Amino acid sequence: MNLVLLGAPGAGKGTQSDLLIEEFGYAHISTGDILRAAVKAGTELGLEAKKYMDAGDLVPDSVVIGLVADRLTQEDTLDGFILDGFPRTIAQAAALADELEKLGRPLDAAVAIDVDYEVIVKRLSSRRCCRDCGYIGNVADESCPKCGGEMFQRDDDQEDVIRNRLAVYDKSTKPLIDFYSEAGILITIDGDKDPKIVYDDVKQALGL
Ligand code: AMP
Repeated sequence: MNLVLLGAPGAGKGTQSDLLIEEFGYAHISTGDILRAAVKAGTELGLEAKKYMDAGDLVPDSVVIGLVADRLTQEDTLDGFILDGFPRTIAQAAALADELEKLGRPLDAAVAIDVDYEVIVKRLSSRRCCRDCGYIGNVADESCPKCGGEMFQRDDDQEDVIRNRLAVYDKSTKPLIDFYSEAGILITIDGDKDPKIVYDDVKQALGL
């Protein structure tokens, strides 16, 4: 399946992607992960992206559209992919539609995970990530339960940055709900539940 996961930052897109990938082997395309890797590696792209990311603002469309177009040429995406955190603007969604049409690999569904914003602020400000394997846990994890690595708080998981990310989501990304609804491929899931229950709902809605 070719899927887009939509939802505010912290809605659980990363967690649901991980579960789908583990069970079905789809390729994971997370623009946030690609950009964070570029920041960590200190590349030109990373240096450019960091200033937007630290403030919780969006990296320019031209940059992320190029990254995704490149990633979609890789062979592991041929048997299905999950776009997580992309598109985030109407311009990105339109560019994606053009690219997928060229490739003859249309989207099967856009899954919107819906979570109350105050729940998100609490969730993200207590979120911690593993420096080594990327595991997503919370403040109670002193070390990574998966690999023993060091857990850290992302700079953009500070409360003032989280609130800006939610405002940016409202303004730039929420219109994508109508975009995919009009395209007839929108599925909305209540994300304010245990991740395993959300996952069962996602699979049921997708007929998996
Ligand atoms: P995420 O991990 O998806 O929450 O992304 C972290 C940050 O990376 C965002 O707050 C943006 O600064 C940047 N970013 C990720 N994906 C995109 C995108 N599709 N368009 C623009 N900026 C993005």
